[in-house]
Amino acid sequence: MSTIPDDLRSHVYDRADGICEYCLMGERYTMKLHEVDHIYAEKHGGKTILENLCLSCATCNRFKGSDLCSLDPLTGQISALYHPRRDIWSDHFRLKAFTIEPITPTGRVTVQLLKLNDFSRLAEREALFSVGRYPGHYRSSLDHDIGTDESTTDTLE
Ligand SMILES: [Zn+2]
Repeated sequence: MSTIPDDLRSHVYDRADGICEYCLMGERYTMKLHEVDHIYAEKHGGKTILENLCLSCATCNRFKGSDLCSLDPLTGQISALYHPRRDIWSDHFRLKAFTIEPITPTGRVTVQLLKLNDFSRLAEREALFSVGRYPGHYRSSLDHDIGTDESTTDTLE
């Protein structure tokens, strides 16, 4: 595994605003620093370029490993994992308070493989949610189920 140059790392961090691009956890609220993930792992030919990199919390990155896809728990069909550069988060997931609900096959395989709603992760997110620290900057751009009270000026029609 190649080392990520510092300038590339800081670009990835800034682009994501310090938020895990899978579970939306802010780095400042975790015990471990977020990591730069090769969306397509190097062993599959993935390159160390911005288009193939995303910011991931250590937990998401550990469960994702070098995987690209998995079996949809609903249909048994193979489906690609969420790709932070090509996919839009809210096309595949919906936040119900601090629970990440999958709404597509890609959402389902990602929630399952990355264990996005494991008990300990939900407990951590619940604590942050209760004090307005979860999710991070995605908050105002997601659907209205999250009950935010600071997006009343949104111009969504
Ligand atoms: Zn994460």
